[in-house]
Amino acid sequence: MKTSSISKFYEKSLEERLKILAEFASLTPEEVSNLQKLALDFDTANRMIENVVGTTQLPFGVATNFIVNGREILVPMTIEEPSVVAAASKAAGLARASGGFQASSDDPIMIGQIQLVNVADTAQAAKKIMEKKNEIMDFANQQDKVLVSFGGGVKDLDVRVLKHDGKEMLVVHLYVDVRDAMGANAINTMSEAVAPMLENLSGGKVRLRIISNLAVRRLARAKAVWKKEEIGEDVVEGVIDAYNFAAADPYRAATHNKGIMNGIDSVVIATGNDWRAIEAGAHSYAAMKEEGKYKPLTKYYKDGNGDLVGEIELPMAIGLVGGATKTHPIAKIAVKILGVKTAKELAEIIASVGLAQNFAAIRALSTEGIQRGHMRLHSKNIAVLAGAVGDEIDAVAKVISDEKKVNVARAKEVLDEIRKKK
Ligand code: NAD
Repeated sequence: MKTSSISKFYEKSLEERLKILAEFASLTPEEVSNLQKLALDFDTANRMIENVVGTTQLPFGVATNFIVNGREILVPMTIEEPSVVAAASKAAGLARASGGFQASSDDPIMIGQIQLVNVADTAQAAKKIMEKKNEIMDFANQQDKVLVSFGGGVKDLDVRVLKHDGKEMLVVHLYVDVRDAMGANAINTMSEAVAPMLENLSGGKVRLRIISNLAVRRLARAKAVWKKEEIGEDVVEGVIDAYNFAAADPYRAATHNKGIMNGIDSVVIATGNDWRAIEAGAHSYAAMKEEGKYKPLTKYYKDGNGDLVGEIELPMAIGLVGGATKTHPIAKIAVKILGVKTAKELAEIIASVGLAQNFAAIRALSTEGIQRGHMRLHSKNIAVLAGAVGDEIDAVAKVISDEKKVNVARAKEVLDEIRKKK
């Protein structure tokens, strides 16, 4: 039986980790060697963006212990911040006793917006557009026959009248099922194509034709139960107290949600997806859950047994095709490790990781605080800052972390002592 619960993965050598991963995800020797090489050659990078002069690398790790909808999953995560992968693994491990994460998601419906200004009679123009709704949708669908052949395409349309600064404008929404794409290019093409029809019908002038990142019709959800016997009653209470704080205060909710995005962005980046789109969707959704208030994206409560239940819901505009998902060699390996076949499945895993990450953060924050664990990992960065190289890094890091003096000045002293002894 395949399991993502791998004892002491963090203590294993790189070779051992790769062997376990290759077995778990049936990686080919070429994929394993790609993981160890520079991720991007110049030609690939130069096709992705403009004016390329190099590449930036970030660590690529895997979080262990995840079970999502009954499936054992190792989660690839790309991030520069220490503790995130360890915390996600820990939270997922504590949820295993109750079967891990149950996740679901909407159909992948994204919204295209077409803005019309200088419309003489907005109510009349809106009526005319709605009368021609089917023709507009048909014309939009002709722009992306591939998408339609997979069961996607425009599914609905509506018109909104908006007002700002004393001026009215019409905004047409195209609701497009983008299947396994993130959908921005597909939608932008359709929105531009139907714009002249809308101009004719409304008698106005078309301005913006672009996707909305507030993907409210493409939500992903996940839920987990952390048993009180696993985490302790104080943690159950502590996490609920932390949630109440975030629900009552936008200053705290911002940081609460940042912790969620630590997990979410890591998987989004690892799979070659557009993390700005996911960030924009998450925060705009957090701000519209309750009119005029910025809210946490997760919630926590106690069930009848006194166990802790965590839930998350947020927009998840994620793709398996399009953008860099198929061009970036490491992104392709990440998708293979996850074993997902649809963007919906990927969205559900990412929501689960966001919940796990949040639980881990507020569990630590509401009890011992995060600095102890964080500084233990951060001590290696401090050792490097102090000038340590090779074996010196671990040696310095251990001393300053044991002494709880994780700062550059102390690291330099320790480094000097080590070098004198050599
Ligand atoms: P894309 O156009 O590269 O690929 C999507 C296309 O792939 C579809 O239109 C379809 O024709 C085809 N396709 C093949 N198999 C498919 C399948 N199974 N499911 C769905 N489509 C399939 O990419 P995209 O997803 O339309 O756009 C994503 C890119 O747009 C990202 O790079 C993103 O950064 C960028 N972008 C984002 C924004 C924004 O978020 N505001 C704006 C502009 C561009």
